[in-house]
Formats: sequence, C-alpha cells, structure tokens
Amino acid sequence: MIETEKKLFATIIVDQAVGKPLDYAIPTSLHSAIEPGMRVVIPLRKKQIKGTVISLHPTSEVENPSEVIELLEDGGRIPEHLFSLMKWISDYYGSDLRKTIMMMIPRSVRDEVQQKKQLMICLKKSPKELTEIAADIRSRFPKQASVLDVLLQNTKGLLLTELVQKAGVTKAPIDTLIKKELITSKQVIIDNSELESDEFFQTAPKTLNDEQAAAFKKITATIDQEIYQTHLIHGVTGSGKTEIYLQAIDHVLKKGKSVIMLVPEIALTRQTIERFKSRFTQPIAVLHHRLSKGERFDAWQKIRTGDIKIIIGARSAIFSPAKDLGLIIVDEEQDSSYKQKDDMPCYHGRDVAIMRGAMTKSCVILGSATPSIETFYNAKNDKYQLSTLSVRAGNAKLPKVDIIDMGIEYDKNKGPTLFSDKLLSGIERRIEDGEQILLFLNRRGFYTSHVCTSCNEPIKCKHCDVSLTYHKNDHLLSCHVCGYSIQGVLEKCPTCGSKETMKFRGPGTEHVERALHKIFPQVRTLRMDRDTTKHKGSHDRIFREFRSGKADVLIGTQMIAKGLHFPNVTLAALINADSSLHIPDFRSGETVFQLTAQVAGRAGRGVLPGEVIIQTLLPHHTVFKHAATEDYLNFYKEEIQERKLFGYPPFSHLARFQISGYNEKRAEKFAHQLRTHLIKTLPKTCDILPIAPCGHAKIKDKFRFQFLLRSPQIAGLGKYLNTLMAHIKKPSGTYLLIDIDPHSTF
Ligand code: ADP
Ligand code: ZN
Ligand code: ZN
Repeated sequence: MIETEKKLFATIIVDQAVGKPLDYAIPTSLHSAIEPGMRVVIPLRKKQIKGTVISLHPTSEVENPSEVIELLEDGGRIPEHLFSLMKWISDYYGSDLRKTIMMMIPRSVRDEVQQKKQLMICLKKSPKELTEIAADIRSRFPKQASVLDVLLQNTKGLLLTELVQKAGVTKAPIDTLIKKELITSKQVIIDNSELESDEFFQTAPKTLNDEQAAAFKKITATIDQEIYQTHLIHGVTGSGKTEIYLQAIDHVLKKGKSVIMLVPEIALTRQTIERFKSRFTQPIAVLHHRLSKGERFDAWQKIRTGDIKIIIGARSAIFSPAKDLGLIIVDEEQDSSYKQKDDMPCYHGRDVAIMRGAMTKSCVILGSATPSIETFYNAKNDKYQLSTLSVRAGNAKLPKVDIIDMGIEYDKNKGPTLFSDKLLSGIERRIEDGEQILLFLNRRGFYTSHVCTSCNEPIKCKHCDVSLTYHKNDHLLSCHVCGYSIQGVLEKCPTCGSKETMKFRGPGTEHVERALHKIFPQVRTLRMDRDTTKHKGSHDRIFREFRSGKADVLIGTQMIAKGLHFPNVTLAALINADSSLHIPDFRSGETVFQLTAQVAGRAGRGVLPGEVIIQTLLPHHTVFKHAATEDYLNFYKEEIQERKLFGYPPFSHLARFQISGYNEKRAEKFAHQLRTHLIKTLPKTCDILPIAPCGHAKIKDKFRFQFLLRSPQIAGLGKYLNTLMAHIKKPSGTYLLIDIDPHSTF
C-alpha cells in the first residue's frame, strides 16, 4: 500500500511591502523542522526574498502555491512567546501583522546585519626572527619590510586599516606576508558601546525600610510562585522604588531568569545606567536609539540565547527576545513616551508589558510617584497589587512648596514678569550659599510666538498649523514640528499688512536664561532643551557639569523633570505651571499634576531641605493644591469622579481615527465615509463622535482630521478594524492612523 504523501502549507508574511500574507507549500524534507515564527527564503516574482512563517496548515485555498526554498538560521526567528504577543498586538491595536512584525523585529535582525568585523594583523613568528627577516628582504621588498617594522613596534597586533596607514603601503605586501606565513590575520569585532569599558564601584544592596520590605515581600512571592501578577509601587520621589527594582532584579537573576526594565526615553541617561551597572556584575544590554545596526543585532542575539539577562531600554525594549523572562519593570509607568502615537500599531509599552507578563507567567512591576488614573484604578480594584511608599528613603525630607499667584506679581510689576519676588530672593540666597536651583519651563526658544497686535494672527509655519518660535541666539523663527525656518523677524504683518505691529509672546527657556543673567550678572547657568542637546553626549555632559557644581542654575524643559538625582538642588521652580492646563484634553489635569509633582520631587534630595515654587495664574486650581502637598490620593479622588461623569477612561475605552492627506477635501471626505461605515456596522454601544480637525490641523503639508470612538468594550474592535482595512479603499495620498487607547485626544 502506498501512503499518500502528507501535505503542508505555510502562510508567510514577506519582508517586502506586499499587501497580504501569502501561502507557500513546504517541501517534505522541511516538514519536521518548520515552525511558526521561523524565517524562510521564498520565491516571489522571480526573486528570492525573506519572510516570516505565520501559521502552518494541511490545506491551502491557493492552487499549487510555490515552494519554500529554505529555512534560515535561528538568528532572526521570533521566539514563540513573542509570536503570540505579536498576534495580540495586531488584534488589539488594529494593525496588520506585517506592520507589527516590522515594528517588533528590528531591521538589523531581519536582515542579519552582523557587527562590523575588522581584520586584525598579528606577527606569526617571534619578533627576533622577524627582525632578521625584515633586514634580509629590505632591499628587494622595501614595502614588506616596512610592514614588518610597524608590526614589530606593535607586537599585540594592529587593525588592517591602521597598519596600511602607518606603513604607508597598499594591502598587497600585507597579503604577500600572510602567504609567506610570517604574519596572520583574524576577524575581530570592535566594540564601541559607550559604557562597556568603564569600571564601576560596586554598590551593596541597602537594608530596606518597613514599607520597602513589605512591597519587596509581595513581589518576591509572585516571582517565587512563577505566576503572573502586576504590582504597582506608588511611592513619592526618592522613596526608594529603584532600590526595590534592583533587589527584585537580583532575586530573579539568582533563579537564572532574565529581566526587562523600561524607562522613559528621557531617563535613559548615564546616571540611570550607572546605577544598574554598579550593582550587577552581569552584562547589561542598554537599548537606545543610537545603537548601530550591528550592535542591535548583536544585542538581540545575546538576549535571545540568554547570554545577557538584564535589559534596559525605552518603549521598544519590551520586544526583546529575553530568554526565561521572570520580571518586567516599567518605571514611571504614567510617562507618555511609552505610547507610540505616530505610527501603527499605536501600542502602549506598559500595556504590552502587562500582556507579555501574563503570557510568560512573569512578575510585572509598575512604579510611579504619580500613577496614571487608569493604573491606580486597576490597583484599587485589585487587578494589580498596590504597595505604597509614603516617606523618602534615607533621611531626605519632602520639600516645602509655595504656590505663587502671578496675577498679584504682574500687578506689582505693572506688567508680566518671569520671576516672582519669592523666586528671586530664593535664587539669590542659593547663589550666595552655593546651593543649586532648577528652573522648569515647558517651552524652548526665546519667544514661542511672533504675533500681530492689529489682527492677532501669529506667524505660522508654511507647512504646519503651528506658530513659529523665535530663537535669539540664531536670530530666526523656526517651526518645532518640521524644522522650517525664516531668518530674522518680520517688520510687516503678512496677514493684514500693518506695520510696526509685530510683537513677541510667550517666553521660552532661552529667554529665562538671558533674563536671569540680567538680574544676577554673576550667575552661572546651564540650559537643557532640545536646542542644547542636539549633539551626541551633550545630554550627559550638561548633567555631569551641573552635578559637579559648574553652574548654579539648570534651566530646562521636560528633560530636567524626570528621574534625576542632584543632592545639592534645594530650590526647584515651575516658571509657568499652567501652560498645559489649557490644552483641551481629558488628561490635561493628570499631566499638569504629574509634571508639578515631578519638578517638586527634584528639590531636597540630599541632606539639605528643599523648597519648591509653583508660579501660576490659577493659584486656586485644585491640581496645584494637591500637587503642592504631594496629595495624590485626593487628586485621584477628584479626577476619577470627573472621568466617571464624562465617561472617559477607565470608564470607557477610546479609539482615535486620524485621517490625513495632502488634499484637504479628499481627506475630509474619506473621514466621513469611514465614520458612516463604522456607525452602520459597529454595535450600538459604540459612541462615534463627530469629525473635527486635529489639535494641529496641518502638519508637514498634510491636513489632519480625526474622530473618536467611545465604547464600554474594546475587545474585538482591533480585529474587526483589521479586516475592514484590508477591504476598504483609501483614496490615494490619504492616510489613516488608528490609535486605540490614545494617550491624548488633542
Ligand atoms: P525613587 O526611585 O523612588 O526615586 P531611589 O530608589 O532612587 O528612589 O532612592 C532615593 C535615594 O535613597 C537613593 O539615593 C537611594 O540610594 C536611597 N535609598 C533607597 N532605599 C534606601 C534604604 N532602604 N536605606 C537607605 N537609603 C536608601
Ligand atoms: Zn496683522
Ligand atoms: Zn512646520
């Protein structure tokens, strides 16, 4: 009896932008080896290309599909648990699998970009022998002789590129010497990762205080049981959350498991990394956006094989193929940088972390001084285990906070002013006593707009619906979104044509710095914003200089608000605390509270007591009242009632549909078509709000519209949208971005 040959087919997502997954037949020889997640080579339009196996099945609807050519090495393979995570992301965030794969697996891994290897040339005989040989051949082969001369001075070996340069020869004489077996060459990897070569003083674990110990006990219980559970550590700044992370990591490492720790992009500083490198002797992968392709590929492989078990990085580090994951930490879980918002899938790093924890039975720790309302709600409802740290660790005290009514200051000053009297005297005293000051302002540049006082129109970018910012140092007006700029300032209003009506509004960090120097000529300042940190390493340099006391005042934007530890800072001030309160968004109160509390948390972290000044035109706003006393609980109580009243998350789910296009009419028309279709096909429990221009109605020449969907349930929506998108016809030049659980609706 002849056994009928069993058939097997694979659905494959090819790397090239082909609309949908394709079916391929699998040759019998590969039946037992092939698995979902593997990388394969397949034929497509007479070319051989790479792809990822999504699923395997005994039948295919495609008639006589082509055959898979070969299986690739494991290097680019998506491990099984990441594979289920990928499917979840695709379904939940309404983003097709191909896009999801492309986002999760770095390009260098898909393309298997090896670390750049260089040739190292070394001596193959003893220096004594070679010295004689060099003398011997010098008259006939002077070039070979000089290669030997240089190598004899560098007996540890030289890179080929260095040798060629030092000996002043081409590669030919070197090749000849290799053939003669007088010298050898070997491939080496040049490691240029920044911190690798540094040595750190090892720090010992601290004895935990009672609150820390209680939190740690709950966490280790989860780790020891090898179950999934999310913990929220709600602890004021400086209360010792990081110390708990460090000890939890140690606990997991001792079990041979690995850890992923997410930190906000901005906090991925040398100071943070040093703290981890000085506690663990094990290698640590620090995944930041400056890694070269080769470095990224190399890190991926070492993480995949378990050679590296500690992974620290921003949002996308959650996709690292950690082997035997035991713990995921999301520090500052409320941080908006965890949400991808400009590209689909618009995933939330924290939520993906929780899902990955559940899929891999790992412990998840979220940490924050000011948790997002959604997270705290989950903790209150026992979805997460809550631990509270109410006092600063060590001996540091919470700072004294003053809210200054800037309305009164403006009256005293007979016009707007940047600094209240209280702030000025505070600064003066610190300069005299050699203590340090942080001044926070959410705007960079000198003035944030150039406005006509006759028609009230600001000068806007040619390509964006955004006011141009004046930069005094460069004497230009520039767009902070697309980089468009005009040299100098305008004499005449381009809108109404009136002359001498152009005025500047809205001081930025550059202005604060100059104004401060006018008042205190002797003051030493450092400024930190995107203008001063364009160059690699400048971020760390400014922090180092400030820490070592090279300046009295550090002026900056968000960059200075997060996670920094400057023991000598005793005064921190928000120059204009309400700048974000006016943004029409359900999260604006939360954002202002978080920022205020964060800046406040920078003062008095050492032995000296700290003081915080909040300058505002809304001194009675409850956000400031609660932030001033670090009273998160009362802030939460008020905020959650408001969310309930208006049906915002966590009492509903939101989805934001953003439609953009170079042709305004066409984009708007498509938005209407899509909305009408959704109203017709989605359940009646989905509330679909009207279409409106986005907060910035035009960005980089694209007109942008949006509408919101509000629903008690979100499960199934992404999957439905995925199918819908595969069938719907978008007009050319029109783009759709679906943002599930948007961080902001502005
Ligand atoms: P957070 O992460 O909550 O801001 P950290 O973990 O950075 O707090 O702790 C703030 C400071 O207190 C650090 O200098 C840290 O070394 C110190 N610290 C933390 N826990 C303890 C402890 N149990 N005993 C003594 N010092 C501690
Ligand atoms: Zn005008
Ligand atoms: Zn622009």
